[in-house]
Formats: sequence, C-alpha cells, structure tokens
Amino acid sequence: MTKHICKEHGSRTPEQKAIMERIEKDGICPFCVDFCQGEKPQYHTKPIIKETRWWVLTQNFHPYEGSVHHFLLVCKRHITKLRELNVWEIFDAFSIFKWAEKEYRIQGGVILLRFGDPEHTGASVQHLHFQLVVGDSRKNGGPVILTSLGYQKQKDS
Ligand SMILES: [Zn+2]
Repeated sequence: MTKHICKEHGSRTPEQKAIMERIEKDGICPFCVDFCQGEKPQYHTKPIIKETRWWVLTQNFHPYEGSVHHFLLVCKRHITKLRELNVWEIFDAFSIFKWAEKEYRIQGGVILLRFGDPEHTGASVQHLHFQLVVGDSRKNGGPVILTSLGYQKQKDS
C-alpha cells in the first residue's frame, strides 16, 4: 500500500491527529480525494478560494500558530517530485501567488514547497503542494512563526 501521509508530521492538534488517523485507515491520498476528483472535499473543511486548471487554493486546515494567513496551493495531479511539475503548473502557481498578494494586500510572506521523501522534509501529505504563510509585522511584538524545514544532520563526534 502506498503511503500518502506522514502522521508524525501532521498531528499538531488532537483534531488534526484524528483526521490523519482516519486518512491512514482509509488508505487514500486526501488531496486527490478532496481536490482532484471534483467531488465535495471529504477531509478538508476550509473553503476553496480559487481553482484553476492546475491548482486549488484554500486555507490550511491547521494554520501555523500566529499566522495572519496560511494558504495551501494544491496541485490537481498527484505528483510528489519537483521534476514532475510542468511549465504551465509553475507559471500558474506563481500567477495565483501574485493574485493572492494583491487580493489579501500581503505586505510580506513566505512560500514553502516541500517535495520528495517526507522523511527529509517534515511534510504531512506527500501530494505536492505549496504553502503561503503570512505573518504579522515584527513591529507588533509577536514571536516568530516556527515550522520544520527537515532534520539536522548528526554532528560529527
Ligand atoms: Zn494525491
């Protein structure tokens, strides 16, 4: 059976943990079910903001703590590697980010794309997706938003 999710990486809250366990039990790719098959999302409960031929833009199911916006941009094909993205998908993804920047009056943000083996990245769903994270201004005094960028290599002893 293909492993579509990495429960260890996507269980920040009890609600999220329960959904990840359901997805694991169902043995499906949640993004394929929710965003590629043209049916009502089964797992994802946030509204779809924008949909193109190549991508679905929605809010993250569990936004990073303290984020002003945390969007997911999910590819409408089940791919996991950078080299599987075609030029139209790359162009369209950045057109959507430009749209979001204007639409939400984003002063500054971060785009994340984890790809490949989730054991190297901390991704919770393998199906290729971008994250657009927008925090508040440092001037407002909040702490930094933290996420995993992978795992540190062991130090030489
Ligand atoms: Zn998928």
